[in-house]
Amino acid sequence: MSSIAKQLQVVNARIAAAAQAAGRNPQDIQLLAVSKFFDAASVLEAVRAGQAAFGENYVQEALDKIAALKLAAPEARVAWHFIGPIQSNKTRQIAENFDWVHSVDREKIARRLAEQRPPALPPLNICLQVNISAEDSKSGLSPDELLPVARAVAAMPGLRLRGLMAIPAPTEVAVEQRAAFRRLRELAALLADGGIACDTLSMGMSADMDAAIAEGATIVRVGTAIFGQRQTH
Ligand SMILES: *Cc1c(COP(=O)(O)O)cnc(C)c1O
Repeated sequence: MSSIAKQLQVVNARIAAAAQAAGRNPQDIQLLAVSKFFDAASVLEAVRAGQAAFGENYVQEALDKIAALKLAAPEARVAWHFIGPIQSNKTRQIAENFDWVHSVDREKIARRLAEQRPPALPPLNICLQVNISAEDSKSGLSPDELLPVARAVAAMPGLRLRGLMAIPAPTEVAVEQRAAFRRLRELAALLADGGIACDTLSMGMSADMDAAIAEGATIVRVGTAIFGQRQTH
């Protein structure tokens, strides 16, 4: 078995254990394999091992991989999730090539994605990224801005608002990890109270997925624990 296949087993077992500890059904938690900086061959290995959803941060890198994978495994049913910062001039390529976008943090970006989503494709699944750690440098809507933007996005044709995404400030302290993820869950509950039904909490990465699952994550975005350490260039 390849090391990627082995690591996928390890991560899936970790998801199952965290779900069980939280009294949740492991089936309710989707593993998004974050393949940024890893090549199409690595993605293909993961696909062959049964992984079906991949997260990418950079548009051009992702498009190259999507094309390579279509050639190498035309029969594979793979969902592509865009999870990186979004520049206005990249929205068309995102709208045309992805199934999900987790990193929408401005109404203007959502509107462009809605206008540019090809009508022949199903609606683009959207998560609004929220800055729950209140750091100036981090992207994401502030909790105060969230409700009006969510209302606007929920009404846009071509998009389907699925939920919220966050990247909390890194900490190794489990109670702090949980407190941040709990804030995102509470914001989703606030949206539900406001009549905006969502089914997705995209939260948790290699280092903190267990805490995220304990607080209700439905998608965990995991890179390093599957593919290994990234070579930053
Ligand atoms: C890179 C990245 C991940 C994966 O992080 P790991 O620590 O490698 O698991 C998850 N989410 C986002 C938004 C990322 O950019």
